[in-house]
Amino acid sequence: MEAEFEACSFCGRNKSEVDVLVSGSDDVHICDSCISQAHGILLQEASFVEKANTPFEIKKPKEIKAFLDQYIIGQDKAKSVMSVAVYNHYKRINYNQSRKEGETEIDKSNLLLVGETGTGKTLIARSIARMLDVPFAIVDATVLTEAGYVGEDVESLLTKLLQAADYDVPRAERGIVFIDEIDKVARKSDNPSITRDVSGEGVQQALLKLLEGTVVNVPPQGGRKHPDQKFIEVNTQDILFVAGGAFSGIEKIIESRLNKGSLGYFKEEKKEVLDSQNVLSHVNSTDLKRFGLIPELLGRLPVVTHLDKLTKESLLAILTKPKNALIKQYELLFKLDGINLEVKEEVLEWIVEKALKTELGARGLRSIVEEIFNPLIFETDNLPSKLVINLEMIGGNHP
Ligand code: ADP
Repeated sequence: MEAEFEACSFCGRNKSEVDVLVSGSDDVHICDSCISQAHGILLQEASFVEKANTPFEIKKPKEIKAFLDQYIIGQDKAKSVMSVAVYNHYKRINYNQSRKEGETEIDKSNLLLVGETGTGKTLIARSIARMLDVPFAIVDATVLTEAGYVGEDVESLLTKLLQAADYDVPRAERGIVFIDEIDKVARKSDNPSITRDVSGEGVQQALLKLLEGTVVNVPPQGGRKHPDQKFIEVNTQDILFVAGGAFSGIEKIIESRLNKGSLGYFKEEKKEVLDSQNVLSHVNSTDLKRFGLIPELLGRLPVVTHLDKLTKESLLAILTKPKNALIKQYELLFKLDGINLEVKEEVLEWIVEKALKTELGARGLRSIVEEIFNPLIFETDNLPSKLVINLEMIGGNHP
């Protein structure tokens, strides 16, 4: 080829358009700007690898729990169990980095959280990710299907995690994935063979390897750093998976197991005290299997815990107590406009009673609170510097 027609094999720019064009064998060339871009990528990769090899500064379970207490009301059991599991998980990562061939291996401790919607399952997982400063992704199990069928393949879980990690692969490989609504992929019937259950058991099967730890080819979907790359390899061995679900109706399964307790123990002594609240606290893998999760999946989610139903008292506390409680946020919003906000207790109770009726857990609170405050914010200019919200102001009666 004649010299003036030589072009960069990466960006396609002509020799005359670049400062330097380095030639390789077989008519391959690279220009100064592509060299410098590639150099940047190399430096970034090197810093990722260095970061990935630095041991985790992991907090003790009690510190993790204390952190969670700032954001999550109640749910003491779930917070403690989660703190220990997370502690073990990241200790395992540090240990595995220096583990020698033949030494004891520590198993992964993926978790399964059972609790009604809006009780704090996602919030706990998200808060832990924030505390550890690791990437966090939420994926709905109901959009997943077995590979090859309409819907998303399970690899899409990792696409989301990669996006959350800004395509820093080693960082993603230590992240947390929350798989929501895992109860919705329960086996539909006890007879698995009649029709292919591609969105139920098929998904459970597809999740097995991912949860256990494997190298997956992940479609990057729009990563800036890998525009032309078809797949990015992600190793899931150190990714913590937290599955959550409401498992509506599981109380009956738990109750029937407890009532079958040897010598009729629960029949006689405990039956009256098993209200719907504490039935859930007895949940175990046997119940989840009867609900329709396959044993192989349960084996890969070895830590099972529950979240309590939110009571009136806990909803009241959620409104005002956590670090970023809704009422605190509105107080701040008004304060930024020079207005001192006071919300009377009777109004808080009104909000909670209304939220309880929605049966959306704490998730029901936000829309009710917004309904009260948004019209007021619209009138900001006409508000007094001390704004007291009482029942009368918001239209009064009990919901
Ligand atoms: P789910 O159990 O359905 O995953 P989430 O964790 O998404 O519920 O909760 C929805 C919202 O409700 C959260 O963003 C949070 O504001 C609030 N919330 C739920 N439970 C609690 C809790 N125990 N303490 C504080 N806030 C909570």
